[in-house]
Amino acid sequence: MNNGPAKKSKQAGASKEAQRKALSPKVKHLLYVRAGGRCQLCQDYLLESDELGYYEFNRGEMAHIVGQSLNATSPRGDFPLAKELRDEVENLMLLCARDHQTIDKAIEEGNFTVELLRELKHEREAHIKHVTGIPQNQHTCIVRLVGRIRGNTVQITRPECNSATLHHHPARFANFALDYHRQGVEIDLTMLGEPEENPSYYQTAQLLIDRELQLIRQGIERDEIAHLSVFGFARIPALVYLGFKLGSKVGATLFQRRRVDAKHWHWLRDAPMQQFDWELIQSSPQVGKVALIINATGCIHRWELPNNIDDTYNIFLLKPTDVDPHADTVLTVESLNHFRQTYRRLMAHLESKHKSVDQIHVFLAAPTAVSIACGLDLMPHVQPSLLVYDRTPREFTVALAVN
Ligand SMILES: [Zn+2]
Repeated sequence: MNNGPAKKSKQAGASKEAQRKALSPKVKHLLYVRAGGRCQLCQDYLLESDELGYYEFNRGEMAHIVGQSLNATSPRGDFPLAKELRDEVENLMLLCARDHQTIDKAIEEGNFTVELLRELKHEREAHIKHVTGIPQNQHTCIVRLVGRIRGNTVQITRPECNSATLHHHPARFANFALDYHRQGVEIDLTMLGEPEENPSYYQTAQLLIDRELQLIRQGIERDEIAHLSVFGFARIPALVYLGFKLGSKVGATLFQRRRVDAKHWHWLRDAPMQQFDWELIQSSPQVGKVALIINATGCIHRWELPNNIDDTYNIFLLKPTDVDPHADTVLTVESLNHFRQTYRRLMAHLESKHKSVDQIHVFLAAPTAVSIACGLDLMPHVQPSLLVYDRTPREFTVALAVN
């Protein structure tokens, strides 16, 4: 990527020197600002070194994407780009010495192309511009709950959380206040196995959630935590319980995992918004008896409910408007928000029309963020408690109560 013929060592060093002189101060200035002073490949900060003590100096190298001279001996020199554009910032990358050498080698072997280098450069520059525009106090405390779901579990890594909160609107910097060991997750239910094999599963899960969230509550009371970002992958009743225990003292953004691409925890921006509504599917004069089916992404039928939910119950159904529930009903924040509005309206209706109900039997076929929201949006003390059922292979069984 040096200008001039890419021969070895001494000559290459001399030509790099010549290149630095040739580039205008304005171009150099622009490149360093756009790169945020970091290598545009490995992100190493290039204006200081602290490996052998702290030193401030410039370790950056400005590398041409299309070689500086037009002949084929210059790296990618025969690529169609006018000579006067080759020393412009658009054709330069800021790199550390190691990556500069690696790239030259990779290009020699045909592993990098001009298009790929340009793509990497633009991606890095857009990222630097985005994150340097986020107000400095925009921090969010990460809360992760991970358990097994029928043999499956996922990792919710720090970089995944970071990326999801940075690309959310409004963007926030992830803060892992509870993850003291800088690995793993804050609330880990994986060692509990699954409820089918562990009769005290939900009892222990509640204790673990209570214990870890105590630290969050202390942080909120001390004004150290002003916002939460919640990432959950666990059985539905555990998620509802987590949501309820998070409370509403500070704002919370809920994230959920998608499987369609590598950006698992990013909400989609341009998917259509799904609306929700509710209806009474079985009516009974006994206003104090209420069951609720939430079919957000799956279908629970009336006949699947356990025998104790008999004809004396009022049964409400909350579901997507105009479509059958399917796996992709909640891909955007707007869809999640519409679900939450509908759920809160239904809870308010139950509070006014079914005053005597003190417990609602709840059956959920819902994605993780919806499940967490069902706990989060329940008003403590004022609204009835939820008796949340878990779907085991053959039947529904009571898992836990919230509120
Ligand atoms: Zn580098």
